[in-house]
Amino acid sequence: MTLALHGGTPVRSTPWPSWPPPMDDAQRKLVTDVLESGLWGATQGGSAVSDLTAAFAGRSGVPYGVAVGNATLGLFAALRGLGVGPGDEVIVPAYTFVASATSVLLAGATPVIVDVDPVDLHLSATAAEAAITSKTVAVMPVHLAGSPADMDPFNELAARYGLVVVEDAAQAHGAAYRGRPIGGLGDAGVYSFQASKAMTAGEGGLIVCREESVHEAIWSVCNLGRKLGGQWYGHPNLGWNLRLTEIQAALLIPWLDRLDAEIDRREAFCAALDLGDLPVRAVPQPEGTTRDSRHLLMLRFEQPVDRAFLLAAMAAEGVPLEAGYPPLGTMSALTEAGARAEPCPATQAAAESVVWVRQSMLMDDPARAVDIAEALAKVLSA
Ligand SMILES: *Cc1c(COP(=O)(O)O)cnc(C)c1O
Repeated sequence: MTLALHGGTPVRSTPWPSWPPPMDDAQRKLVTDVLESGLWGATQGGSAVSDLTAAFAGRSGVPYGVAVGNATLGLFAALRGLGVGPGDEVIVPAYTFVASATSVLLAGATPVIVDVDPVDLHLSATAAEAAITSKTVAVMPVHLAGSPADMDPFNELAARYGLVVVEDAAQAHGAAYRGRPIGGLGDAGVYSFQASKAMTAGEGGLIVCREESVHEAIWSVCNLGRKLGGQWYGHPNLGWNLRLTEIQAALLIPWLDRLDAEIDRREAFCAALDLGDLPVRAVPQPEGTTRDSRHLLMLRFEQPVDRAFLLAAMAAEGVPLEAGYPPLGTMSALTEAGARAEPCPATQAAAESVVWVRQSMLMDDPARAVDIAEALAKVLSA
């Protein structure tokens, strides 16, 4: 048993659930079928990738999808398919995973890193509008932590300034905005199936979209520039092989049947977390959130804390929390590659005062949410 930093017994000594969970029977059957068939690639006539794509697009409320190797490449392919390239600027939030910006660089365009809303920490539509120049062609709201970005203002901006909207939905499988599934609210939406996400095959991604022409263009980017339904060795466009495998799709299909129950479980855990009088609060959801997929729970301290000490002390209490993202604008690799950072005071404040409770912890019995509150109380009283 480890000793807590403040002495005595740690609040929690049992492990938290691990993520991803082990393969279930439905996955074992589908994966075994694919393995035994020998049809492991998506171009050999198997149906797992096409079944997953159709089902996932359907859940997103749109007719089209393209499965890809990961969401970084998915964001790149969505941007390319929507015509974004060199000389163009794409607005991304400063408080997000680095791939929201590196995908823009991969497309040859310039990420413009813009501040978030000081309260909900999602991309600020006001700051986004202020950053628009004659070169701006796209905006990328991120459905951060599983909470939908407030999409209406972005779609209004897009209509007013002639922009495309690419939703980074990597963290928000199953989330809904004003009663509609996210992913299908902009011109394209991109999900991730990387190991930390709510549905995973270790790696993977999926792009969804509403328009047939957008689907054809994105499909072509992901399939070496081929024309959908055209010749195998005809490559009228520039494209790459960005495909998902049948084996990965077989792991993902059964997840669609349990995703909602898993979201409900995380929601129940979040609802059970009673922070009482502690000077720390859950970061509120953006306007219009009707279903939060609870990828992670962001907690914000209402007074300055020594966060490095706090995280170490919480870990010693058996409640490991995470520091979360540094502001993208502070990453020299991005700015040296040409990214432009607008002033981001709200992001800076968030980066100093927010900690994350991981999805794997939210999957525990909601009755154990008390472990987090108790550990926080113990550590903050020190
Ligand atoms: C995970 C993540 C990505 C990248 O997904 P990969 O599948 O790992 O490439 C992009 N954006 C956000 C917000 C993410 O959380």
